[in-house]
Amino acid sequence: MFDYMPWWDDETRKFADDVEKFVDEHLAPIGMELLEENKDPMEIQWSASKLCIEHGFHPLMVLAEEQYGGSDKGYVGYTILNEEIGRSNVNVNPLLTSVFGAGPIHLFGTETQKQKFLRPIVKGEKWASITVTEPDVGNDAAGIQLHAEEDGDEWVLNGWKRYITLGALSDYHMLYANTDPELKRIYRHLTAFIVPTDIPGITIEKINHLIGDVEMANSVIRYHNVRVPKENMILDPGDGWTVMTSALNIERLGIASVVGSTKNLIETARAYGRRRVQFGQPISRYNGVQFRMANISMKMHLTRVYIYYLAHLLDTGEADMFTFALKSSTAKIFGTQSLTENALDALYIVGGDGYLQETGIGGVLKNGALMQIAGGSNDILKLFIGRQEFKQDVDTRMVNPSVRGPTKEDVKEL
Ligand SMILES: Cc1cc2nc3c(=O)[nH]c(=O)nc-3n(C[C@H](O)[C@H](O)[C@H](O)COP(=O)(O)OP(=O)(O)OC[C@H]3O[C@@H](n4cnc5c(N)ncnc54)[C@H](O)[C@@H]3O)c2cc1C
Repeated sequence: MFDYMPWWDDETRKFADDVEKFVDEHLAPIGMELLEENKDPMEIQWSASKLCIEHGFHPLMVLAEEQYGGSDKGYVGYTILNEEIGRSNVNVNPLLTSVFGAGPIHLFGTETQKQKFLRPIVKGEKWASITVTEPDVGNDAAGIQLHAEEDGDEWVLNGWKRYITLGALSDYHMLYANTDPELKRIYRHLTAFIVPTDIPGITIEKINHLIGDVEMANSVIRYHNVRVPKENMILDPGDGWTVMTSALNIERLGIASVVGSTKNLIETARAYGRRRVQFGQPISRYNGVQFRMANISMKMHLTRVYIYYLAHLLDTGEADMFTFALKSSTAKIFGTQSLTENALDALYIVGGDGYLQETGIGGVLKNGALMQIAGGSNDILKLFIGRQEFKQDVDTRMVNPSVRGPTKEDVKEL
């Protein structure tokens, strides 16, 4: 039974039930098969993604408005779907990559761009990659070097990107280029482009081999004199930083929805803990094991409430992008750190069996580690949150004068 948020209306509850049924009937059996039969996870990712599309459960389809082929269930519907897919133990990386790749078009695209580019991605006919990271640019995304120069009605792109999920397979690269290095100090140096991958000059130089089951054509890409029409630019030259950071804020909510995998961990730990007898009792009766289970449960419930609160803010238009950036970073850090810790706690509850492929805990552990890196490393996001806390004015109602030191008014009086 889906654990609704108390403020959801009947339509949202019904949607949650439909998603739950779809996952139980279609995705969960695939997840089980994947673990038992050691099938090729890449093949499964594609077939599971296509199955989601057939049933109308592509996260972008659920999120997007009807005029673009979506079912307009908002960020709450989108988060419900992400959470439930996580529970199935099936990785639908092409869908998630495409929803993040298409994010900037959904947020800022013109009507023409939405009809031309967003609609086929929503319908699952086309795929999109997020194209930020470069050989010398990771967390410091403002340092993007790939250069774009205006030439008549086109922009000409030259440079490199790396770690691009789906890069060799997607139809569009949602790409950020440096269009004016002089303007970096005021963050007006980047511009966002939708780059169709059939344009001449794009070469896949390498496919990275990864440790998780997300090896989805993770590509190193070279762009050599790639000519992109002006109409593929999102907003105006210099708006790229705004486009990127806004899209990343939304992406972080999607990443935090990995909490769904924790439901799976809890069931595995519960089943083993109740069945496994050691020292004359089921291990679930030992305090140490209960503490581990409590850790998993507490973090799961807290993350769930927070992500649905954020989804609600977006749907009701109450999220101003600056405070939302802090909130979505908080959700991403807490959710992904918790997922990794939860996977370890579950693994220790399940003991040696936890280390077997067929429990699936290893896959969750690797995914948790990746999610702490992707979409901006957790450490960097913490810097952002910590700095902002120190920038706020001190609320003197709660602070003893000896702690805060003399104020300007005190000094004047002296
Ligand atoms: C499987 C996978 C898929 C990916 N998919 C994509 C994709 O589709 N598109 C895309 O654009 N990118 C993608 N990435 C790249 C990912 O977003 C980057 O790896 C991430 O942004 C971190 O950059 P980096 O790896 O260069 O780490 P770095 O920036 O080199 O950071 C390394 C370490 O240094 C720390 N650090 C750096 N600066 C500071 C500082 N000022 N203070 C404190 N600590 C600091 C970081 O926290 C981190 O721990 C993917 C990566 C992986 C592994």
